Amino acid sequence: MASLKLSHIYKVYENGHKAVNDFNIDIEDKEFIVFVGPSGCGKSTTLRMIAGLENITAGDLFIGDTLVNDMEPKDRDIAMVFQSYALYPHMTVYDNMAFGLRNRHMPEEQIREKVLEAAKMLDIEIYLDRKPKAMSGGQRQRVALGRALVRDPKVFLLDEPLSNLDAKLRAQMRTEITKLHKKLATTFIYVTHDQVEAMTMGTRIVVMKLGYVQQIDTPMNLYNKPYNKFVAGFIGTPQMNFFDVTLTRKGDKVTIKYPDGSTSVVSYESVCKMDNRFLDGETTVILGIRPEHIALSSKKTNLSATVNAVEHLGNECIVYGKLGQETGEFTMKDEGRNIIIKTIEGVKVEVGDVVYLEISEDKVHLFDKESEITLIHEIPPFTAVESKIKGGKAALFGEDAVLPPALLEALGDASEARIEIPPFAVVPGKDFKLRVAKVEKVDGKNLAWLENGDKFLFALVDDGVKAGASLPFSLKYDKLRIKVKGEVVLEPVGETESLIGSFKKVDVARNEVSFLYNIEGVDLHAPVEAGYKINAVEGNKCYKKNYRYVFDRKKVMLGEAGLSGVVEKVFDYGNQKYALLSVGAQKLLVEVDKDFNTGHVDFALNGDDFEVWQQEINFRIC
Ligand code: ADP
Ligand code: MG
Repeated sequence: MASLKLSHIYKVYENGHKAVNDFNIDIEDKEFIVFVGPSGCGKSTTLRMIAGLENITAGDLFIGDTLVNDMEPKDRDIAMVFQSYALYPHMTVYDNMAFGLRNRHMPEEQIREKVLEAAKMLDIEIYLDRKPKAMSGGQRQRVALGRALVRDPKVFLLDEPLSNLDAKLRAQMRTEITKLHKKLATTFIYVTHDQVEAMTMGTRIVVMKLGYVQQIDTPMNLYNKPYNKFVAGFIGTPQMNFFDVTLTRKGDKVTIKYPDGSTSVVSYESVCKMDNRFLDGETTVILGIRPEHIALSSKKTNLSATVNAVEHLGNECIVYGKLGQETGEFTMKDEGRNIIIKTIEGVKVEVGDVVYLEISEDKVHLFDKESEITLIHEIPPFTAVESKIKGGKAALFGEDAVLPPALLEALGDASEARIEIPPFAVVPGKDFKLRVAKVEKVDGKNLAWLENGDKFLFALVDDGVKAGASLPFSLKYDKLRIKVKGEVVLEPVGETESLIGSFKKVDVARNEVSFLYNIEGVDLHAPVEAGYKINAVEGNKCYKKNYRYVFDRKKVMLGEAGLSGVVEKVFDYGNQKYALLSVGAQKLLVEVDKDFNTGHVDFALNGDDFEVWQQEINFRIC
């Protein structure tokens, strides 16, 4: 039994190929985790790093509380099962299963007990004297499982163990492995490219693509709340339908316009959490709707399709068509109009029919056309508010708000601005007041919907805030993004900063070294563990290279001796004040006191707080 933790794990192969990027997960004891994704996305590489069969380029791997990056595979208490079974052909099933235990010098009697127990569990008792070649694929895979089982591992790793089996056997083994997991009550990590396997077996699923984790979630959440178009399309059969659409808001309704000119209507409330600029009737977004969430309507609707194939599956019926009511040859340019509908058996649909459709508004997914990331987040990253600016004041939430100097300067003589307000930037205060329409619990947080004219401002609020109340609040001006005519004129102040510098090793005494970071000619103490990590990842060329050192802005110690900077500019946000320093050839934004007004500052940094980033392929070393 064991928990696992992967923290900022990277794999860069010798040839420079970045196979796994910043993989992070906390796996609890007894979980059944599935890694799923198309071939080449880094599933096996990650699994092999956990097993210790592949070096970890950067990051920390914990089994239980132990850091195991450098631990030998045999000491990790992990058993691995491969697609290829990897059985010894000249040995009997019994000997194959006993092999590892004999290597560990377990008494023969005890081995016998364990092998028999495992054989019984896997239903292969009668084959114990056979050689693998006299067995079917399914039986061989059971032997491979048995060989893993007898070792009582803390963690089971399975790499596409069922891929060599036919469909029927695969389905059967699927349930058996699930049962085995329940019986053994150990942690399983299971790799597959098959989303059905993933969905039916995993307690949580990691969806991967091109070396990047796309989403880690329960099967139901992946299905209901896919983070991006890739996950949405990968999970579920037949695949989710995707259409390029435009959205137009009118009052409390939003009209969706499909590529053929068909339309359907959803409530404004169902899409209000997205950036409202997408509701302008012009911007193209991607709509996703699963085949099972489209219904054939007995009434005429504004959304129709022409049927070009029907599949009767006995219990359900899959209708293939294209949006619109034109028959005739299907051309490439119509591809964006393909639609698949899953309906119950018994409906009368034939090729050439025009069918009318209804979609469930709570099943509609919307994705950004460029990034393909969902446009509707449970906690919106920000609410965009359009504001008129006049005489140093902004019309905001029914008030004429006096803007702090940093914003006024960024706005210049603009008379209109778009202000993006993250929910956490709405804080208790007296500047504004809005009515609370409702308070929603999301991930243990309170998300308040504040009525702002015919829109909502989303805010994270304390427990005491109730629907119907009038909420007084202020804004954290340093956390807002300001745009004028589509251009960003002021970015929010982030939590971290970075400076670039070199890295060196110093021989302190015989057999004793210490490491230093050097930023703009100033040496800073580097933790020994970090020093060894950088050297392990990069080899001795690390002493000739520059790294990016990332730190929390709050950790900059102003006024202390060490580095120094020339003040280029001061940003006054009212409650907060920042100074932009030039430190040698680099820039650094630091938080300063309200009465700050000098032209030069000394500051210190603590190398213990640094994250170290490799610059060429941009990964976090430690
Ligand atoms: P998956 O198991 O998801 O199919 P892998 O983890 O096997 O993917 O591979 C991930 C990526 O790393 C692929 O692009 C693959 O070609 C590459 N890769 C795997 N092994 C090596 C290696 N030894 N050297 C270089 N590249 C490799
Ligand atoms: Mg693989």
